[in-house]
Amino acid sequence: MPEQTCLHKLPKAEIHVHLEGCFEPATIESLACKAGERLPRPRDKLLQFSGLADFLSFLDWCCGLLQTEEQLSEAAYGFCRRMAADGTGYADVIVNPTHWRHWHWRIGDMINALDRGFCAAERDGLPAAGLCVSLLRTQSAAAAAELVDVLIERRHPRVVALSIDGNEAKAGRTGPRFAEAFRRAGAAGLKRTVHAGESSGPEGVRDAIELLGADRIDHGVRAIEDAGLVALLAERRIALGVCPTSNTALGLYACMEEHPIDRLRRAGVPVSVNTDDPCLLGVTLPGEYGRCVDAYGWSRDDVRAVARTSIEASFATPETKARLLTALQTW
Ligand SMILES: [Zn+2]
Repeated sequence: MPEQTCLHKLPKAEIHVHLEGCFEPATIESLACKAGERLPRPRDKLLQFSGLADFLSFLDWCCGLLQTEEQLSEAAYGFCRRMAADGTGYADVIVNPTHWRHWHWRIGDMINALDRGFCAAERDGLPAAGLCVSLLRTQSAAAAAELVDVLIERRHPRVVALSIDGNEAKAGRTGPRFAEAFRRAGAAGLKRTVHAGESSGPEGVRDAIELLGADRIDHGVRAIEDAGLVALLAERRIALGVCPTSNTALGLYACMEEHPIDRLRRAGVPVSVNTDDPCLLGVTLPGEYGRCVDAYGWSRDDVRAVARTSIEASFATPETKARLLTALQTW
């Protein structure tokens, strides 16, 4: 069974991680201090969330602390430093402008500022990252069209995908509302990644595939409730960006033994292991692999296959993918 140090060295990509969830508690405190804001609750309870709604409102507060382009560049650079510490070779990082209240109307500036941080990190030998710019499930079709207009007009090379996230239990069924935005993004050459099958059931995953043309599903774990859907994911090789601790911490499953990642994997669905919001959840990528190894007894070959999925399903350049896949062979 692979040990933690092996999992750290495992060549892997991360394909479901939010920049909003990558601020260390000390960074949050320092940003709050600079912004002249009080912490929303006592320091020792700062990262204790009562559920998804509480979690999302904390993200809004936290991201609202970043006001300058330098702060955004530093956040991007810090993200790459964290990847290097986890032994992650590449990441598709989700950023949702609706959480960043100082940047709602300056999305182009926001992307440029983040890009500067990612470029600086690459120059310093840190791993590369692509941006998945995200809609929120509660936005309107008009707001979605506006974001896609910005992405298509600029076609910034750092932006690899259109994404959508947020609380589907609260928003209800929104696939039809966002279908046109996703169609246009796809036609413009952007990849499409969709949060579904977490706060929505299997029907949300079906909508993600059929209405939003998802190249990849973030979470998707509740697909396990529909055998036909599991078969569809396996047949079309649509990868899931699974985040075990996120799902157990937010109460979707009581424990790893109840979590369906291994059952999905055994059914032939391409699954990857990810952290979602690593700092807010207090997890690392090698740690998440380790939890799966412990819970399901994954062999080295099982781990290697999951890591291969993470690389192949990523939106990295062909060169980056080839380099990581070659390294994986000799792991
Ligand atoms: Zn997520």
